[in-house]
Amino acid sequence: MTDVAIVVHGGAGEWPADAHDAARAGMEAAVEAGHAILAAGGDALAAVEAAVVVLEDDPIFNAGRGAALDERGGVLLDASLMRGADRAAGSVAALRGIRNPVRAARAVMEDGRHLMLVGESASLFARTAGLETAPESWFRTEARRRAFENGDSSRGGTVGAVARDARGGLAAATSTGGSARKHPGRVGDSPLVAAGTWADDATAAVSCTGDGEAIIRTALAHEVDALMRHAGLPLAEACEVALAGLALRPGTGGLIAVCADDVAAPFTTPAMPRAWRLGHGPTLTAVGRDG
Ligand code: ASP
Repeated sequence: MTDVAIVVHGGAGEWPADAHDAARAGMEAAVEAGHAILAAGGDALAAVEAAVVVLEDDPIFNAGRGAALDERGGVLLDASLMRGADRAAGSVAALRGIRNPVRAARAVMEDGRHLMLVGESASLFARTAGLETAPESWFRTEARRRAFENGDSSRGGTVGAVARDARGGLAAATSTGGSARKHPGRVGDSPLVAAGTWADDATAAVSCTGDGEAIIRTALAHEVDALMRHAGLPLAEACEVALAGLALRPGTGGLIAVCADDVAAPFTTPAMPRAWRLGHGPTLTAVGRDG
């Protein structure tokens, strides 16, 4: 038996001081949801899914409810998850009207025929799988509407989780509304296996956030795996070197990662809300560089 571990993030970017308390509260609730599953003997995949569901329902993050609006003022959602034992994965992009996109990604994975579904067909698949739907008004919060009207095109607030279960199994999940004012149909790194999300029990589970196009060009999540596997780097160093590679694409961002005996959560932006719980220790949260 190994010690369980869970880490969550709420998106690399600018986080004004008056949003820090809400971000910490959201991070903490997500860690608790995932940790409860791990503590009860559940697997890492179930834990990361549960943690991300909490964050998708929390309107302060750019995922599920409260997602950033595209250039038409609409909401199109991306999510993925991956299991490290067998590299099974599921993914959805440009999803509309499904309350928890990460559950749709899980349904694609469980169905087993495909890895990724997009657009209206993905939404129809999720509805047919019995997933909870929600009207556009559920996702489009007042704060997002105001930001849209003020021309805001920032990114940030993507969510993710990585976990290690008591059997040493690893998993990762990521969910986002993408970049604000994106062209409808734009897909970033979050739903792409190897770019935004990766898990292999032999190396690490990783969830990324930041400049999506640059993260895709870096294959950032898989880069951590490659640096551990082929260069023999320990987790923390592999994450730092991978993020240095992102800077060359050029891009900024952050990631969370877990391996057999460590966790990491580096970022190159001013802030990245994050929280983690190792074994039965306390839940620790931080937003900026100094906590
Ligand atoms: N990486 C996400 C995307 O490009 C955005 C973010 O993490 O802030 O869709």
